[in-house]
Amino acid sequence: MGKAERIQGVRGMNDVLPTDEVYWDRFEEAVATVMRGYGYRRIRTPIVEPTALFVRGIGEVTDIVEKEMYSFTDALNGDELTLRPESTAGVVRAVIEHNLLYDGPKRLWYQGPMFRHERPQKGRYRQFNQVGVEALGMTGPDADVEVILLGNRLWDELGLGGIRLEINSLGQADERNAHRAALIAYFEEHREQLDGDAQRRLHANPLRILDTKNPAMQALVEAAPRLGDFLGPESLAHFTEVQRLLAANKVEFRINPRLVRGLDYYNLTVFEWVNEDGLTLCGGGRYDPLIAMLGGNPAPACGFALGVERVLEQLRRNAPDLGATGCDVYVIHAGGAVGEVAFQTAERLRDAGLEVILHCGGGSFKSQFRRADASGARFAVIAGEDELARGEVSVKWLRGSPIGEGAARQETVALAALADWIVDAMVASDGADI
Ligand code: ATP
Ligand code: MG
Repeated sequence: MGKAERIQGVRGMNDVLPTDEVYWDRFEEAVATVMRGYGYRRIRTPIVEPTALFVRGIGEVTDIVEKEMYSFTDALNGDELTLRPESTAGVVRAVIEHNLLYDGPKRLWYQGPMFRHERPQKGRYRQFNQVGVEALGMTGPDADVEVILLGNRLWDELGLGGIRLEINSLGQADERNAHRAALIAYFEEHREQLDGDAQRRLHANPLRILDTKNPAMQALVEAAPRLGDFLGPESLAHFTEVQRLLAANKVEFRINPRLVRGLDYYNLTVFEWVNEDGLTLCGGGRYDPLIAMLGGNPAPACGFALGVERVLEQLRRNAPDLGATGCDVYVIHAGGAVGEVAFQTAERLRDAGLEVILHCGGGSFKSQFRRADASGARFAVIAGEDELARGEVSVKWLRGSPIGEGAARQETVALAALADWIVDAMVASDGADI
């Protein structure tokens, strides 16, 4: 029979292969540790939500809603649905639906895949993962600073350097409206310099023009009226306090007056963590209007969303040899009746907390050794007929031998003492905690 035609994965949607798992594990452990450290609790919401949730929650005139959403009609009942492009709207929906704010503020976090139909390139995918936090029900700049500190601690926990913090204040709606009017007047005066996107957004969402990536418009945007000049005393006081608390906590930051963030619902503080290549790893801020916009009792909120793939890329660069680690023990055996004992031996070793691969499929000892080596296991346990008759097996160090790498150290060990022997050997050689 000939080979059937291959079916490729969807463009921009990646497989995470087992060799990458050590980075994911490391990342997820750090996230869990940091979230616990700040009293944030995980919430899991569905990947599919009603399309209307994102249209209302993200805003009609945004990149996401205009052109990036995977929306479809459920053929079975006609529901208009969308694969979530971000998670804040879904989390807020759930918070309202389950009345989670009834007894006071909530600190929540989430992790999971998001979907945006963008042009795939490095650090930009159609299915990607975000970790995010939502601090709900707290008004003060202290909450803004808390979520920034949380991110900062995550970089420390992961050992990542070179990530800088940029902050800005978007003020309140009336201040933005005054700025917006000034902005529209300014861009209208220079209409001939606007590209198609900008012309379309001029009246609907002129703030987004400031976020343009078009090099031909940079000078124009640079000279545009600045929102900072339109902030009233309360907004300024909030922003000043954020800066004071950051400095008091020894977090370095840069004020970027052009930082606006893509979504409609932000107010007051916005921030981004940017790496040395200028890639944004994490963005967030305050979005006090959102809960009421989605039908809940008005309550303030702030948070961030972090691009997991981008952080993992950074982690890979910082720790290229985190490498794949193998299991503890690979059990090689002669098959037949010996194979049965080998099965039980492997189970006893697992009882002792060891990670064990039992050779399957038979073959010569030589070919089994090759598999054992390729598995990355620390020890090979060899169960042969003659030794087993005496109640013994051989143990061979495959790597990390205390008498030197590659040293062919092999010992005969009583089957009854095998698990203890291996655990002791591991603890003795590197203090491994098992
Ligand atoms: P950009 O301006 O780069 O498109 P954004 O404003 O759309 O970013 P957010 O919606 O704030 O991004 O998402 C938060 C983080 O999620 C981003 O800072 C980034 O790290 C990550 N992210 C966003 N879109 C993608 C994507 N398509 N692929 C991978 N990561 C992404
Ligand atoms: Mg985007």
